[in-house]
Amino acid sequence: MAWRCTSSSNSGLVDNLTNAQILKSPQIINAMRSTDRAFFSPRSPYQDAPQSIGHGATISAPHMHAMALESLQQYLHPGATVLDVGSGSGYLVAVMSKLVQPNGVVCGIEHIQALHESAILNFIASDPDAQRLLDSQQVRFECADGRQGWPGLTFDAIHVGAAAHIVPQSLIEQLNSPGMIFIPVGTPGSQYIYEISKDSRGQVTHSKKYGVSYVPLTDVSHYA
Ligand code: SAH
Repeated sequence: MAWRCTSSSNSGLVDNLTNAQILKSPQIINAMRSTDRAFFSPRSPYQDAPQSIGHGATISAPHMHAMALESLQQYLHPGATVLDVGSGSGYLVAVMSKLVQPNGVVCGIEHIQALHESAILNFIASDPDAQRLLDSQQVRFECADGRQGWPGLTFDAIHVGAAAHIVPQSLIEQLNSPGMIFIPVGTPGSQYIYEISKDSRGQVTHSKKYGVSYVPLTDVSHYA
């Protein structure tokens, strides 16, 4: 599946992801179409592969972003409150902010200060409405350890963009009923996506999906 959706433009990339049936939901297709990856990944933005964003981090491949958004789709509705742990380039925060508007909230946590700062600049460059969304705190970026989640808020959807050894308990506690966490879990060479669902009675279910390769969810010193 990797690589095959590469294109020479953002709309071509979204078309290829749609034709490959990786993208299915009209809202997600629209949100990805209106968020140009070139603002977040200046080198080869439309190649369907992870790209370095410096500091040992990568912007995930477009098909991986598409699969994560499709997994969480039910919870990325207007008015939803959403968390992106390991927000890196800021791309998914920008896409998800389009899905939860007009009255939703998207929070992005990144532990590398330089990436945190560039994600804000990328978001502002990518979206004419970004400054208003930041001023009104409908979109929030914080530089912190994402394993603690975002104390004080709870979330309908949590996306984790780095692979955890174990699923942080704080994230499960901060998940609404109902809600879903999309998270890679494991060690290099043995990582799998888990969809962790909390139903309306608070019952938590872990569902193992497919093998992946993400950078680790770890201490900031690991990335020095
Ligand atoms: N979805 C992002 C993925 C970036 S790579 C994108 O496509 O741009 C994963 C990111 O997780 C890296 O930027 C890394 O610095 C960050 N990260 C790793 N461990 C973290 C932690 N404990 N807290 C916050 N961010 C973390």
